[in-house]
Amino acid sequence: MLIAGERVEGSGHSIDVVNPATEEVVAAVKSASESEVDAAVEAARRAFKTWKKTPAPERGEMLHALSDWIGEHTESLAEILTREGGKPLVENRDEMGWSASCLDFYAEMGRIERGRIVPSGEAGQLNLVVKEPHGVVAAIVPWNYPILLLMWKLAPALAAGNTVVVKPSPYTPLSTLELAEGMADIFPPGVVNVVPGAADTGRALVANPGVALIAFTGSVDTGKQVAHAAADRLAKVHLELGGKDAFIVCDDVDVALAARGAAWAAYLNSGQVCTSAERFYVLPQVYDDFVDAFVDQASGIVVGDPMHESTDMGPLVRAVQREAVEAQLSSARAAGARVVFGGERPSDTGFFLTPAVLVDVDDSMDVMSKETFGPVAPIAKVSSLEEAIRRTNDSPYGLGANVYTQRLDYMLTAMEEIEAGTVWFNDPLTDNEAAPFGGFKSSGSGRELGVEGLDDFRQTKHIHIDSKLDAKAWWYPYAEYVRHQAEFGTAPG
Ligand code: NAD
Repeated sequence: MLIAGERVEGSGHSIDVVNPATEEVVAAVKSASESEVDAAVEAARRAFKTWKKTPAPERGEMLHALSDWIGEHTESLAEILTREGGKPLVENRDEMGWSASCLDFYAEMGRIERGRIVPSGEAGQLNLVVKEPHGVVAAIVPWNYPILLLMWKLAPALAAGNTVVVKPSPYTPLSTLELAEGMADIFPPGVVNVVPGAADTGRALVANPGVALIAFTGSVDTGKQVAHAAADRLAKVHLELGGKDAFIVCDDVDVALAARGAAWAAYLNSGQVCTSAERFYVLPQVYDDFVDAFVDQASGIVVGDPMHESTDMGPLVRAVQREAVEAQLSSARAAGARVVFGGERPSDTGFFLTPAVLVDVDDSMDVMSKETFGPVAPIAKVSSLEEAIRRTNDSPYGLGANVYTQRLDYMLTAMEEIEAGTVWFNDPLTDNEAAPFGGFKSSGSGRELGVEGLDDFRQTKHIHIDSKLDAKAWWYPYAEYVRHQAEFGTAPG
């Protein structure tokens, strides 16, 4: 744990951190008890008094320092992430690069503006819109990108002048605890606190009245619980939730290239990305060729030890995650789908599953309608782009969507009609920290990254200044006010 600048062990229950590739326990982490969560929030409240007044350039310097620290510790952090989460080392190194870049972006963004001036309604007046921090932010994150998704909250929250209490996932606390070593040396005590633990620790944090804003990334079900608990005390919530991203392949594409991009979008991090492509809608002219090319891609994927540089896909994070994916595969099979490749356990040890390709699927199947979060690509033939878009939108989710085409008319139709927070054309899953990320519909509320991602960690205050000390005509007595209106026909101004 990290509370008020002190690195201490929690006194709550112990959590085994399991290497998903070997099923070995790599560490046991003591979770934060309820009273330790309260102490962390109290430390953050105390630190807020000074941090919110710390000049933005100084806050920016510290965010840059954390970025540098991550840069210097990329290899060790990536190895820890691989051991606790199973994501290939290559991908975890990328996660460190993106995390550092997010910190650098908000280090500068936080210095640019903190509001605007609105033209006033009267001479001699000034109307200011001032952006202020909320106070203590609870940052609750999942296991699939433990450091990156934390940075998407931590960097803008700190740049805006908030202080933070972080709760990592119980599957992947080690990388965040390692990061806490760097944060403890960079930030003043209490500005960032870390409380490891499972759902009980998260619930204690959400319920703490000292937390002003809960920034949560995770599943829709947990997001609903967080929103309910926050509603009890009208705490602000920021939700980044699950998805069921569609991937549309149009009839004008280079099929081999589209299949290569599609396979990466489906199987990156074993399909455990919130914006993994989880259902494919392919126009009839290219459908057969696309399925063949996709199977070629899937069969070339190297599944194995995520520590090896040449491994493309590691295990799923836990046995229970793999079982949930397998359950979707079997129910799809029972309903008539054909698995044309993969979907098998390649070894007795580790939570591995080979990349699966399904055809003869329809949207009534769970594999086409519910979040899978595993390496499964169900491919459906559609008659037109319009049908593909209709089926894309016929979902409670709206996180992201991909379209492969170079036809401008297709692009314009898709960008206008698709109901999703991000629509990628020909470059799946590429984020840009200067552009916002978040979900439509059940996929969340609020945005991370970009200007929007800073604004979501600030609240808005209107300042109305009248430099003159004069009596206003619309004050009491109204008899005078009415006389004035009768004489001039308007309210006095
Ligand atoms: P999860 O919802 O199970 O857990 C997320 C976090 O919430 C964990 O730290 C967990 O310990 C904590 N938690 C659990 N119950 C809680 C409660 N009642 N109160 C407070 N905290 C609680 O999600 P997960 O399995 O860790 O992650 C996978 C999910 O996250 C998927 O649905 C995925 O789509 C989603 N996700 C979304 C985004 C996004 O940006 N939209 C990014 C990554 C992952």
